Amino acid sequence: MSLYSSIDKYILIPTADMLTHRGISKEWRIMDRLDMVSEEQLREFQNQRLQALMKHCYVNVPYYTRIFNERGLKPEDIQCREDLQKLPVLTKQLVREHYDELTSNDISSRHIQKCSTGGSTGTPMQFVEDMPSWNMSWASSYRAWEWYGFHVGEKLLTLGGNSLVKKRKMFTPKDIFDLFIMRNKKRSSAEVDDSAMRAHYDAYMAYKPKALRGYGSSLVIFARYIAKKSLPVLPMTCILTTGEILMPEYRKILQDVFNCPVYDEYGAGDGGINAHECLLRDGLHISEETCVIEMTDKDGNVLPDGEIGYVTSTDLGNYAFPFIRYQVGDMAYIKPEKCSCGRASRVIGQVIGRAGKLLYNKQGVPISPTMLPIMLYRDNDYHNEANCVIYNKIDQFQIRQDKNGDIRILLKLKDKNEDHQQFEYCVTNFEMHFVGSKVSLEFVDSIPPMPSGKEDYCVSEYEYTK
Ligand SMILES: [Zn+2]
Repeated sequence: MSLYSSIDKYILIPTADMLTHRGISKEWRIMDRLDMVSEEQLREFQNQRLQALMKHCYVNVPYYTRIFNERGLKPEDIQCREDLQKLPVLTKQLVREHYDELTSNDISSRHIQKCSTGGSTGTPMQFVEDMPSWNMSWASSYRAWEWYGFHVGEKLLTLGGNSLVKKRKMFTPKDIFDLFIMRNKKRSSAEVDDSAMRAHYDAYMAYKPKALRGYGSSLVIFARYIAKKSLPVLPMTCILTTGEILMPEYRKILQDVFNCPVYDEYGAGDGGINAHECLLRDGLHISEETCVIEMTDKDGNVLPDGEIGYVTSTDLGNYAFPFIRYQVGDMAYIKPEKCSCGRASRVIGQVIGRAGKLLYNKQGVPISPTMLPIMLYRDNDYHNEANCVIYNKIDQFQIRQDKNGDIRILLKLKDKNEDHQQFEYCVTNFEMHFVGSKVSLEFVDSIPPMPSGKEDYCVSEYEYTK
């Protein structure tokens, strides 16, 4: 670790914590201490935090006082993850309906920030983030970055949309923290044309970051620009992706262009989910110190490890506005086996996607958006080299499903003069999955990005009804 990073970790961040009433450094120390402990020790710590949260909710949060009473429960009845099944799940709709009742009576004495989830996953939802939850989320990231060999205080360049790069009118203490302590330079990825990419590239070359962070899709647009212009890249420790599901294709492009490993993060402020990719890149380690994750069916029944279910999370840091057994809307599974890196925390094998964003065929079979790029390979086979050659002729794509369930495949090719016939197999692949849907293939000159700057490769207006 460099001298600057050490000063940052042990002096500057603790000082900033004191001045701003935050506690990242304290949380970070806890997480460092628990990083390699046994499963029993980790569970013990998680249980203590869970029990404290239950007591608080019973006394201070009207919604939970009522639920506990209705079910004849006392806080002591919830001692560990398995006991959580005695409580109902919380959904976005319930949060909207019971906002006041879910707010803790002692909220005025807490350091909080009001938040809202983005509109991209449906109706925006208001909620309150408590400072300990925020601390846990950052401490969890800092610890993971150290796994990868990237230390806080080394230069970081962030390319992101609104949730990562907030536009402020004035220079605030938060900007000072970002620029001089975190050394995190942030750039908005809302613009994606060549002149914006050139400006990103110039900033990247001038700043010389040790890591890049951002949405996979935003970083991929930047990587494609660099590849297209054959521009040189800097030696970096890693790329940190966050904020959306990282498609395997995107990971490959980023690794190839920047010549360094990509590590993914899965998090959500609503629900306090924190999970970071293992150094072995074989799944995402849940930060068990900060959240209790269960994979359940819609009603909250816990599924065995290995089975895909709804991500159901209890935020161990949010006392102001507790999220207990909250279904964030994603689907995922927990790997049945322990991770070979030696960490005791459970590993999420794969986040399948926003449940609300799953596509359905006319028979009601759900299709994950992560499947769509695979359908653009001949025979759905992306291991075959000849198939990759054809696939690599595609510059960008978008799959649009209309209200009737019919599919339009939009392809932007690297070379417009390429023989279109060779992509006909895409229609067959999609017809195989979207049985009964009309599938058309169209070649376009450009694919418009979403306002967030994310590249949306999948747009569906179809709602399956029986
Ligand atoms: Zn691991």
